[in-house]
Amino acid sequence: MLNEMSHIPESLLSAKAEELLDILGAPTLFHLSGIDPKPLFICTLLHGNETTGFYAIQRLLQKYQDETLPRSVSIFIANVSAAKEKKRHLDIQDDYNRIWPGTHHNDSAEQDMMRTITRIMSKKKPFASIDIHNNTGKNPHYGCINILNPHGLVLASKFSDIAVYFTDPKGVQSSAFSDFCPSVVLECGQADDRSGEDHALAYLNEILQMESLSSHNSDNLMLYHTIARVTIPKAISIGEKDRDISLNPKLEEKNFHQIQAGTRFALINSSKEKSVIVNSESHEDITDEYIEVRDDELLFKKSTTLAMYTTQEQAIRQDCVCYLMEELHLG
Ligand SMILES: [Zn+2]
Repeated sequence: MLNEMSHIPESLLSAKAEELLDILGAPTLFHLSGIDPKPLFICTLLHGNETTGFYAIQRLLQKYQDETLPRSVSIFIANVSAAKEKKRHLDIQDDYNRIWPGTHHNDSAEQDMMRTITRIMSKKKPFASIDIHNNTGKNPHYGCINILNPHGLVLASKFSDIAVYFTDPKGVQSSAFSDFCPSVVLECGQADDRSGEDHALAYLNEILQMESLSSHNSDNLMLYHTIARVTIPKAISIGEKDRDISLNPKLEEKNFHQIQAGTRFALINSSKEKSVIVNSESHEDITDEYIEVRDDELLFKKSTTLAMYTTQEQAIRQDCVCYLMEELHLG
């Protein structure tokens, strides 16, 4: 189910993300050689509707069409089937960013593929790994890292002054690659926002031309640590007035802002027991620590910082409402 190729098909340089399945036939790992043989690994479309990374890579490849790359590049174009349907993943598929080594999911052909790619790439000793994503809600552009080491922090700091450190969910690509190279996730805002594409492209160009990460620092970084993930049980309906829960739309503008205690999280219109669940990174239910019920309102019990907050039902069902974070001070 995995293609491996050492050249870029001409048609890929002008393709839309929806056309990649027809062009490639399957998830594809490209190896392109450059002056420095230690490859930069770039990953895109682990989520099929997050297309910014693909278009940034496409523009990078156009630029180097008749020019030698300063360093070798390995590119993984992942869930082309979901990209065709403009979905995060197909209903029959696992989430492609939850099945890398370290995953808690059941075995599958796709999990085998991720294991194979990890093995292939670990042998090549990459310079760095960059996985490119989009958010559903409104967020600033930021990097994510899964271990706190100087090179990973530098890699994140070159993309944004904001970075998020997380260790859950498990089975994400960046975490698997952190075992053998500095790894970052780029969160490039919403997929239809062209500024995310420009930003990712400028970043790829910069990293591609770097000789080492050692001579740089990450002093500009404001680092957050995710402490909890907020979900809504399947049995609870989401929406406007006649639904069990209606989320506060104003919070969509508040990602990466501090939320004060007493702020409304949602209105509830149901006597069902639990309409929202807050889970810690180690999967303990800490709902009562963060959310209180007052009449028909759910309120934040203490101040916190949100990331990836969205009111869009499909995104909530496939992932979560938001993450809760606190600032992390290193050193
Ligand atoms: Zn994603």
